[in-house]
Amino acid sequence: MNAYDALIVGGGPGGLQAALSLGRARKQVLLCDAGPRRNAMARGIHNFVTRDGTPPDEFRRVGRAQLATYPDVHVRETGVAAILGERGAFRATLADGTVVDAKRVLLTTGMIDEELPIPGFREQWGRSIFQCPYCHGWEVQDRPWGFLVTPQSLPHAVPFALQARGWTADLTVFLHGLVLPADALARLAAAAIRVEPAVVARIGPHTLELADGRAIPCDALFAHPPQHQTPLVTALDLALEDGLVKIDSMRRETSVPGIYAAGDLTTRMQGAILAAASAAHAAAMLNVDLAMELGAPEAPHAAR
Ligand SMILES: Cc1cc2nc3c(=O)[nH]c(=O)nc-3n(C[C@H](O)[C@H](O)[C@H](O)COP(=O)(O)OP(=O)(O)OC[C@H]3O[C@@H](n4cnc5c(N)ncnc54)[C@H](O)[C@@H]3O)c2cc1C
Repeated sequence: MNAYDALIVGGGPGGLQAALSLGRARKQVLLCDAGPRRNAMARGIHNFVTRDGTPPDEFRRVGRAQLATYPDVHVRETGVAAILGERGAFRATLADGTVVDAKRVLLTTGMIDEELPIPGFREQWGRSIFQCPYCHGWEVQDRPWGFLVTPQSLPHAVPFALQARGWTADLTVFLHGLVLPADALARLAAAAIRVEPAVVARIGPHTLELADGRAIPCDALFAHPPQHQTPLVTALDLALEDGLVKIDSMRRETSVPGIYAAGDLTTRMQGAILAAASAAHAAAMLNVDLAMELGAPEAPHAAR
């Protein structure tokens, strides 16, 4: 069995871009993608130049069609269940039972958003609940907005809310039972941002029902639920920092030599164009790493 130069795990914006970069570098690439993607519930990808408003499925269709013109890029609709081995000699077992070898691995598996245990959260996620105002703010500008504070987002509640005022003057911060210090409350009040301390009992498309029975108008609710890594990444036992895969910032290599990472799983600056850009970076570094084998004294023969 011939080894691929690179196995790319995950076919979102990050994985598609990495496959494009490595395909153009004439590398033998296998891209495996399976499972839900982060923006599955969104109607369109925004804030991506030339792709603004493109439905996520269409984005993937075009990405894969462009990859099809590179004969050494292979795309498979299957998950990667396990990866063993080491730099130069990784062996992956795919969900369909196939075993493949690869000299390097590039992880673009994204993150898994956890569902907040509030009735209506699941139904509205990606519909009226969003994580990023750059992605979905323009379409709902000047309408009633809310920011739902979670324990994870409490430290950035004030900067997020102040930033959101750029899109609407009608903004409520829902503390959902959490507490902000007095100076934070004063800054919000000074910016004419309302604060609701009550627990949110139900999220609807245009209203938030509070535990005390009141209903607050809200056409767009911003929230940052906790995230976790995919089972594959967890099993690889890579070094993490704040739950994100730790990488060398220049090489984008993880704590395991030969395994690279790009996209959401490495950063809180999460966006399609950011994932694609970081994956182009990772692919270039991975390619240089492969090329360095050519100059190694023990290299058996020059590859192309
Ligand atoms: C509701 C919502 C709306 C959004 N809207 C926008 C927007 O408008 N504009 C924008 O720029 N960003 C938006 N984002 C953020 C954007 O979706 C992400 O930043 C981007 O998709 C990250 O790309 P990625 O390639 O890192 O990961 P993903 O796009 O999440 O892709 C990872 C892929 O890897 C697959 N995978 C995971 N594990 C395995 C495995 N073991 N084997 C094979 N495949 C695997 C997953 O199933 C998935 O398909 C939105 C996010 C959400 C949640």
